[in-house]
Amino acid sequence: MTGRALVVLSGGQDSTTCLYWAIDRFGVDKVSSLTFDYGQRHRIELACAKEVAAFAGVANEVLPIDTFAALGGDALTDDIEVQEQPTAETGLPNTFVPGRNLIFLTFAAAYAYRHGITDLVTGVAETDYSGYPDCRETTISSLQKTLCLGMEVELRIHTPLMRRSKQATVELAQALGALPAMAMTHTCYNGQRPPCGSCPACVLRAKGFAAAGIEDPLTSRP
Ligand code: ZN
Repeated sequence: MTGRALVVLSGGQDSTTCLYWAIDRFGVDKVSSLTFDYGQRHRIELACAKEVAAFAGVANEVLPIDTFAALGGDALTDDIEVQEQPTAETGLPNTFVPGRNLIFLTFAAAYAYRHGITDLVTGVAETDYSGYPDCRETTISSLQKTLCLGMEVELRIHTPLMRRSKQATVELAQALGALPAMAMTHTCYNGQRPPCGSCPACVLRAKGFAAAGIEDPLTSRP
């Protein structure tokens, strides 16, 4: 594999696993990472992304997008309590930020275009999640097609976690040597590190590590 890869890095468990997947596949010198400051309430995510990237030995750049926060109405950018139960209006939890992955990948593609990068890597997955429609394989492959047409480039969007359960994602992280970096990641919907352990994101993460029979380096860190 000779191309260069750009990883959309949120500072969480999944994108960190993807970063190590990209390093394994493309080589550390061919990988860089991009983090979006989309007005997320938990600013710790940005620091985690920086820390993970530095630890892995890849560059990290932060791009600002303040539109989601201006739109409001979701629990990640607005001052609303996280409700994992689907709301009656949308059938989705209020952590859904409409269009987020589409916008992220479109900006990532524009960044890649400017830097001569042809491969994007994102941690979206269909399994174990809350049914976010922009994480589906059909959505991503459709977007890839649109980006290739709209920018007249051969762009590939890699989704190494698409069909993996949380357990399988943890096992992949272990196989890729990504576990030490997991101590620097952030998952908690309440913005806590060490994590709160009781929010839906913490529970899902803990379940994955427990099923894999691996101790989470984040919760066991001193
Ligand atoms: Zn939590």
